Amino acid sequence: MTDYSFRLTFARMLLDGKKASLKFKEDLKNEVEILLAKSQRPPHLAAILVGHDGASEYYINSKVRNCGETGFTSTLLRLDETISQDLLLEKIKAFNNDPYIDGLLVQLPLPKHINEQKIIEAIDPEKDVDGFHPINAGKLVQGIPAFISATPYGIMLLLEFYNIETKGKNAVVIGRSNIVGRPMSILLSSNIQFGNSTVTLCHSHTKNLEAICLGADIIVAALGKPGFVHAGMVKEGAVVIDVGITRIPDATKKNGYRLQGDVDFENVVHKCSAITPVPGGVGLMTITGLLKNTMQAYHNRVNA
Ligand code: NAD
Repeated sequence: MTDYSFRLTFARMLLDGKKASLKFKEDLKNEVEILLAKSQRPPHLAAILVGHDGASEYYINSKVRNCGETGFTSTLLRLDETISQDLLLEKIKAFNNDPYIDGLLVQLPLPKHINEQKIIEAIDPEKDVDGFHPINAGKLVQGIPAFISATPYGIMLLLEFYNIETKGKNAVVIGRSNIVGRPMSILLSSNIQFGNSTVTLCHSHTKNLEAICLGADIIVAALGKPGFVHAGMVKEGAVVIDVGITRIPDATKKNGYRLQGDVDFENVVHKCSAITPVPGGVGLMTITGLLKNTMQAYHNRVNA
Protein backbone atom coordinates (compact mmCIF):
# COMPACT_ATOMS: atom_id res chain seq x y z
CA MET A 1 0.00 0.00 0.00
CA THR A 2 2.73 2.44 1.00
CA ASP A 3 4.70 1.50 -2.07
CA TYR A 4 1.65 2.02 -4.30
CA SER A 5 0.84 5.51 -3.00
CA PHE A 6 4.50 6.46 -3.26
CA ARG A 7 4.51 5.42 -6.88
CA LEU A 8 1.45 7.52 -7.56
CA THR A 9 3.38 10.67 -6.64
CA PHE A 10 5.04 10.37 -10.06
CA ALA A 11 3.06 11.30 -13.15
CA ARG A 12 3.92 8.38 -15.43
CA MET A 13 3.74 9.25 -19.07
CA LEU A 14 3.85 7.02 -22.10
CA LEU A 15 6.07 8.60 -24.74
CA ASP A 16 3.88 7.58 -27.65
CA GLY A 17 5.89 7.37 -30.88
CA LYS A 18 2.74 6.92 -32.92
CA LYS A 19 1.16 10.13 -31.67
CA ALA A 20 4.37 12.15 -32.02
CA SER A 21 5.24 10.77 -35.46
CA LEU A 22 1.72 11.53 -36.74
CA LYS A 23 2.15 15.17 -35.77
CA PHE A 24 5.54 15.53 -37.47
CA LYS A 25 4.31 13.65 -40.54
CA GLU A 26 1.27 15.93 -40.73
CA ASP A 27 3.61 18.96 -40.76
CA LEU A 28 5.69 17.38 -43.55
CA LYS A 29 2.55 16.55 -45.53
CA ASN A 30 1.44 20.18 -45.29
CA GLU A 31 4.88 21.28 -46.51
CA VAL A 32 4.58 18.95 -49.51
CA GLU A 33 1.13 20.34 -50.31
CA ILE A 34 2.56 23.86 -50.35
CA LEU A 35 5.32 22.70 -52.74
CA LEU A 36 2.79 21.08 -55.05
CA ALA A 37 0.60 24.18 -54.99
CA LYS A 38 3.66 26.09 -56.26
CA SER A 39 4.11 23.46 -59.01
CA GLN A 40 7.29 22.18 -57.38
CA ARG A 41 8.15 18.50 -57.11
CA PRO A 42 7.96 16.68 -53.75
CA PRO A 43 11.05 15.31 -51.97
CA HIS A 44 12.32 11.99 -53.35
CA LEU A 45 13.88 9.21 -51.26
CA ALA A 46 15.70 6.29 -52.91
CA ALA A 47 16.35 3.11 -50.94
CA ILE A 48 18.39 0.04 -51.80
CA LEU A 49 17.60 -3.36 -50.30
CA VAL A 50 20.06 -6.20 -50.81
CA GLY A 51 18.66 -9.69 -50.18
CA HIS A 52 15.48 -10.73 -48.37
CA ASP A 53 16.18 -10.47 -44.64
CA GLY A 54 12.78 -10.45 -42.88
CA ALA A 55 13.46 -7.50 -40.56
CA SER A 56 15.06 -5.47 -43.36
CA GLU A 57 12.06 -6.14 -45.64
CA TYR A 58 9.78 -4.91 -42.86
CA TYR A 59 11.78 -1.72 -42.22
CA ILE A 60 12.21 -0.84 -45.90
CA ASN A 61 8.51 -1.39 -46.67
CA SER A 62 7.62 0.77 -43.72
CA LYS A 63 9.92 3.56 -44.97
CA VAL A 64 8.41 3.39 -48.46
CA ARG A 65 4.86 3.37 -47.03
CA ASN A 66 5.62 6.40 -44.85
CA CYS A 67 7.01 8.28 -47.86
CA GLY A 68 3.71 7.66 -49.65
CA GLU A 69 1.66 8.77 -46.64
CA THR A 70 3.63 12.01 -46.46
CA GLY A 71 3.46 12.77 -50.17
CA PHE A 72 7.14 12.06 -50.86
CA THR A 73 8.23 10.18 -53.96
CA SER A 74 10.16 6.99 -53.25
CA THR A 75 12.18 4.54 -55.30
CA LEU A 76 13.01 1.11 -53.94
CA LEU A 77 15.77 -0.82 -55.69
CA ARG A 78 15.79 -4.50 -54.71
CA LEU A 79 19.04 -6.34 -55.42
CA ASP A 80 19.90 -10.00 -55.15
CA GLU A 81 21.96 -10.96 -52.10
CA THR A 82 24.71 -12.27 -54.41
CA ILE A 83 25.31 -8.83 -55.95
CA SER A 84 28.99 -7.89 -55.99
CA GLN A 85 30.25 -4.94 -53.99
CA ASP A 86 31.41 -3.23 -57.19
CA LEU A 87 27.97 -3.47 -58.79
CA LEU A 88 26.31 -2.15 -55.63
CA LEU A 89 28.76 0.77 -55.64
CA GLU A 90 27.76 1.48 -59.26
CA LYS A 91 24.07 1.57 -58.32
CA ILE A 92 24.86 4.00 -55.49
CA LYS A 93 26.83 6.19 -57.89
CA ALA A 94 23.88 6.32 -60.28
CA PHE A 95 21.55 7.46 -57.48
CA ASN A 96 24.17 9.96 -56.26
CA ASN A 97 24.23 11.49 -59.75
CA ASP A 98 20.45 11.56 -60.23
CA PRO A 99 19.37 15.21 -59.79
CA TYR A 100 15.81 14.15 -58.92
CA ILE A 101 16.82 12.07 -55.92
CA ASP A 102 17.26 14.01 -52.68
CA GLY A 103 17.88 11.25 -50.14
CA LEU A 104 19.54 7.88 -50.51
CA LEU A 105 19.86 4.98 -48.08
CA VAL A 106 21.13 1.45 -48.22
CA GLN A 107 19.30 -0.81 -45.76
CA LEU A 108 21.68 -2.47 -43.29
CA PRO A 109 22.84 -5.12 -42.55
CA LEU A 110 24.44 -6.16 -45.83
CA PRO A 111 25.61 -9.65 -46.85
CA LYS A 112 28.99 -10.61 -45.39
CA HIS A 113 30.91 -10.25 -48.67
CA ILE A 114 30.09 -6.51 -48.80
CA ASN A 115 32.05 -4.01 -46.74
CA GLU A 116 29.38 -1.90 -44.99
CA GLN A 117 31.72 0.97 -44.21
CA LYS A 118 32.68 1.24 -47.88
CA ILE A 119 29.01 1.40 -48.83
CA ILE A 120 28.22 4.04 -46.19
CA GLU A 121 31.12 6.17 -47.44
CA ALA A 122 30.01 5.79 -51.08
CA ILE A 123 26.74 7.62 -50.44
CA ASP A 124 26.90 11.32 -51.29
CA PRO A 125 26.97 13.05 -47.84
CA GLU A 126 24.46 15.58 -49.25
CA LYS A 127 22.00 12.69 -49.80
CA ASP A 128 22.93 10.68 -46.69
CA VAL A 129 19.55 10.94 -44.95
CA ASP A 130 20.40 8.04 -42.62
CA GLY A 131 23.20 10.27 -41.29
CA PHE A 132 25.74 7.42 -41.23
CA HIS A 133 28.46 9.01 -43.45
CA PRO A 134 31.60 10.02 -41.49
CA ILE A 135 31.24 13.59 -42.81
CA ASN A 136 27.79 13.91 -41.23
CA ALA A 137 28.91 12.14 -38.05
CA GLY A 138 31.91 14.50 -37.81
CA LYS A 139 29.77 17.59 -38.35
CA LEU A 140 27.43 16.44 -35.56
CA VAL A 141 30.39 16.25 -33.15
CA GLN A 142 31.35 19.84 -34.02
CA GLY A 143 27.81 21.19 -33.87
CA ILE A 144 27.70 21.94 -37.61
CA PRO A 145 24.31 21.40 -39.31
CA ALA A 146 24.29 17.84 -40.65
CA PHE A 147 22.07 14.88 -41.29
CA ILE A 148 21.70 13.33 -37.86
CA SER A 149 21.45 9.56 -37.66
CA ALA A 150 17.71 8.92 -37.96
CA THR A 151 17.16 7.07 -34.64
CA PRO A 152 18.84 9.60 -32.32
CA TYR A 153 17.21 12.39 -34.35
CA GLY A 154 13.83 10.71 -33.86
CA ILE A 155 14.46 10.47 -30.11
CA MET A 156 15.27 14.19 -29.99
CA LEU A 157 11.98 14.89 -31.78
CA LEU A 158 10.15 12.74 -29.23
CA LEU A 159 11.77 14.67 -26.35
CA GLU A 160 10.68 17.88 -28.09
CA PHE A 161 7.11 16.64 -28.64
CA TYR A 162 6.69 15.78 -24.95
CA ASN A 163 8.78 18.75 -23.81
CA ILE A 164 11.05 16.57 -21.65
CA GLU A 165 13.49 18.67 -19.65
CA THR A 166 17.08 17.61 -20.38
CA LYS A 167 19.08 20.69 -19.37
CA GLY A 168 21.37 19.95 -16.43
CA LYS A 169 20.07 16.38 -16.11
CA ASN A 170 22.21 13.28 -15.73
CA ALA A 171 21.71 11.10 -18.80
CA VAL A 172 23.03 7.58 -19.27
CA VAL A 173 23.23 6.11 -22.77
CA ILE A 174 23.79 2.34 -22.88
CA GLY A 175 25.43 1.31 -26.17
CA ARG A 176 28.04 3.19 -28.21
CA SER A 177 27.21 2.20 -31.82
CA ASN A 178 27.88 4.73 -34.58
CA ILE A 179 24.20 4.76 -35.54
CA VAL A 180 22.49 5.04 -32.15
CA GLY A 181 24.39 5.27 -28.86
CA ARG A 182 27.32 7.52 -29.77
CA PRO A 183 25.33 10.15 -31.74
CA MET A 184 22.68 10.05 -29.00
CA SER A 185 25.31 10.84 -26.36
CA ILE A 186 26.59 13.73 -28.49
CA LEU A 187 23.13 15.21 -28.99
CA LEU A 188 22.16 14.98 -25.33
CA SER A 189 25.43 16.67 -24.30
CA SER A 190 25.32 19.36 -27.01
CA ASN A 191 24.44 22.97 -26.27
CA ILE A 192 21.04 22.73 -28.00
CA GLN A 193 17.40 22.60 -27.00
CA PHE A 194 16.74 19.17 -25.46
CA GLY A 195 20.49 18.79 -24.96
CA ASN A 196 22.71 20.21 -22.22
CA SER A 197 22.60 17.00 -20.18
CA THR A 198 25.63 15.58 -18.42
CA VAL A 199 26.07 12.33 -20.30
CA THR A 200 27.65 9.03 -19.36
CA LEU A 201 28.13 6.72 -22.35
CA CYS A 202 28.16 3.07 -21.26
CA HIS A 203 29.15 -0.05 -23.20
CA SER A 204 29.97 -3.71 -22.80
CA HIS A 205 33.10 -2.96 -20.74
CA THR A 206 31.42 -0.53 -18.35
CA LYS A 207 31.79 -1.47 -14.70
CA ASN A 208 29.03 -0.87 -12.13
CA LEU A 209 26.44 -0.17 -14.81
CA GLU A 210 23.55 -0.65 -12.38
CA ALA A 211 24.91 2.00 -10.01
CA ILE A 212 25.56 4.39 -12.91
CA CYS A 213 22.00 3.94 -14.16
CA LEU A 214 20.57 4.50 -10.68
CA GLY A 215 22.07 8.01 -10.78
CA ALA A 216 20.40 8.81 -14.11
CA ASP A 217 17.52 11.20 -14.69
CA ILE A 218 17.35 9.95 -18.28
CA ILE A 219 18.27 6.46 -19.53
CA VAL A 220 18.59 5.61 -23.21
CA ALA A 221 18.91 1.84 -23.67
CA ALA A 222 20.41 0.85 -27.03
CA LEU A 223 22.28 -2.41 -26.59
CA GLY A 224 20.07 -5.04 -28.20
CA LYS A 225 19.57 -7.20 -25.07
CA PRO A 226 15.87 -7.80 -24.40
CA GLY A 227 14.68 -6.73 -20.94
CA PHE A 228 18.24 -5.79 -19.86
CA VAL A 229 17.28 -2.61 -17.98
CA HIS A 230 15.38 -3.82 -14.92
CA ALA A 231 13.53 -1.88 -12.23
CA GLY A 232 16.49 -2.10 -9.84
CA MET A 233 18.54 0.04 -12.26
CA VAL A 234 16.02 2.86 -12.53
CA LYS A 235 15.70 5.82 -10.18
CA GLU A 236 12.16 6.82 -9.17
CA GLY A 237 10.94 9.43 -11.65
CA ALA A 238 13.55 8.80 -14.36
CA VAL A 239 12.77 9.13 -18.07
CA VAL A 240 13.44 5.86 -19.93
CA ILE A 241 13.94 5.65 -23.69
CA ASP A 242 13.99 2.12 -25.06
CA VAL A 243 15.71 1.82 -28.46
CA GLY A 244 16.11 -1.96 -28.49
CA ILE A 245 14.14 -4.09 -30.93
CA THR A 246 14.64 -7.84 -30.74
CA ARG A 247 12.44 -10.44 -32.43
CA ILE A 248 11.55 -13.13 -29.89
CA PRO A 249 10.07 -16.35 -31.33
CA ASP A 250 6.44 -16.57 -30.17
CA ALA A 251 4.16 -19.32 -31.44
CA THR A 252 1.08 -17.44 -30.19
CA LYS A 253 1.70 -14.66 -32.73
CA LYS A 254 0.53 -14.86 -36.32
CA ASN A 255 3.96 -13.90 -37.70
CA GLY A 256 5.74 -16.22 -35.25
CA TYR A 257 7.53 -13.58 -33.18
CA ARG A 258 7.03 -10.63 -30.86
CA LEU A 259 9.17 -7.52 -30.52
CA GLN A 260 10.93 -6.83 -27.25
CA GLY A 261 12.85 -3.78 -26.15
CA ASP A 262 15.96 -3.50 -23.98
CA VAL A 263 13.86 -2.43 -20.98
CA ASP A 264 11.80 -4.66 -18.69
CA PHE A 265 8.80 -2.44 -19.40
CA GLU A 266 6.29 -4.21 -17.12
CA ASN A 267 8.34 -3.49 -14.01
CA VAL A 268 10.21 -0.33 -14.99
CA VAL A 269 7.00 1.51 -15.94
CA HIS A 270 6.03 1.72 -12.26
CA LYS A 271 9.21 3.60 -11.34
CA CYS A 272 9.82 6.07 -14.12
CA SER A 273 8.10 9.36 -14.93
CA ALA A 274 8.04 8.69 -18.69
CA ILE A 275 8.83 5.71 -20.87
CA THR A 276 8.72 4.64 -24.52
CA PRO A 277 6.91 1.40 -25.42
CA VAL A 278 8.24 -1.27 -27.81
CA PRO A 279 6.74 -1.39 -30.36
CA GLY A 280 5.16 2.05 -30.76
CA GLY A 281 8.01 4.18 -29.47
CA VAL A 282 11.43 4.91 -30.94
CA GLY A 283 10.96 2.78 -34.10
CA LEU A 284 8.26 5.09 -35.46
CA MET A 285 10.32 8.13 -34.56
CA THR A 286 13.28 6.75 -36.54
CA ILE A 287 11.17 6.92 -39.69
CA THR A 288 10.13 10.44 -38.73
CA GLY A 289 13.81 11.40 -38.44
CA LEU A 290 14.44 9.90 -41.86
CA LEU A 291 11.54 11.81 -43.45
CA LYS A 292 12.65 15.08 -41.89
CA ASN A 293 16.21 14.51 -43.12
CA THR A 294 14.84 13.86 -46.62
CA MET A 295 12.84 17.10 -46.56
CA GLN A 296 16.00 18.92 -45.42
CA ALA A 297 18.04 17.28 -48.22
CA TYR A 298 15.39 18.43 -50.70
CA HIS A 299 15.54 22.04 -49.48
CA ASN A 300 19.36 21.99 -49.49
CA ARG A 301 19.34 20.86 -53.14
CA VAL A 302 16.59 23.14 -54.38
CA ASN A 303 18.10 26.18 -52.64
CA ALA A 304 21.73 25.37 -53.55
P1 NAD B 1 25.11 -2.58 -31.76
O1 NAD B 1 25.13 -4.07 -31.61
O2 NAD B 1 25.83 -1.95 -32.89
O3 NAD B 1 25.68 -1.93 -30.42
C1 NAD B 1 25.33 -2.43 -29.17
C2 NAD B 1 26.08 -1.65 -28.13
O4 NAD B 1 25.65 -2.13 -26.86
C3 NAD B 1 27.58 -1.79 -28.19
O5 NAD B 1 28.15 -0.50 -28.18
C4 NAD B 1 27.96 -2.56 -26.94
O6 NAD B 1 29.16 -2.10 -26.36
C5 NAD B 1 26.77 -2.25 -26.02
N1 NAD B 1 26.54 -3.38 -25.10
C6 NAD B 1 26.37 -4.67 -25.41
N2 NAD B 1 26.19 -5.39 -24.28
C7 NAD B 1 26.24 -4.52 -23.25
C8 NAD B 1 26.14 -4.66 -21.85
N3 NAD B 1 25.93 -5.84 -21.26
N4 NAD B 1 26.23 -3.54 -21.10
C9 NAD B 1 26.42 -2.33 -21.66
N5 NAD B 1 26.53 -2.15 -23.00
C10 NAD B 1 26.44 -3.24 -23.78
O7 NAD B 1 23.57 -2.18 -31.73
P2 NAD B 1 22.76 -0.94 -32.34
O8 NAD B 1 22.79 -1.00 -33.80
O9 NAD B 1 23.17 0.32 -31.66
O10 NAD B 1 21.29 -1.32 -31.86
C11 NAD B 1 20.96 -1.50 -30.51
C12 NAD B 1 19.52 -1.97 -30.40
O11 NAD B 1 18.69 -0.95 -30.93
C13 NAD B 1 19.18 -3.22 -31.20
O12 NAD B 1 18.18 -3.94 -30.52
C14 NAD B 1 18.63 -2.69 -32.49
O13 NAD B 1 17.74 -3.59 -33.12
C15 NAD B 1 17.90 -1.48 -31.98
N6 NAD B 1 17.69 -0.42 -32.96
C16 NAD B 1 16.47 0.12 -32.99
C17 NAD B 1 16.21 1.16 -33.85
C18 NAD B 1 14.85 1.77 -33.84
O14 NAD B 1 14.48 2.42 -34.80
N7 NAD B 1 14.10 1.61 -32.76
C19 NAD B 1 17.21 1.64 -34.70
C20 NAD B 1 18.48 1.07 -34.63
C21 NAD B 1 18.71 0.05 -33.74
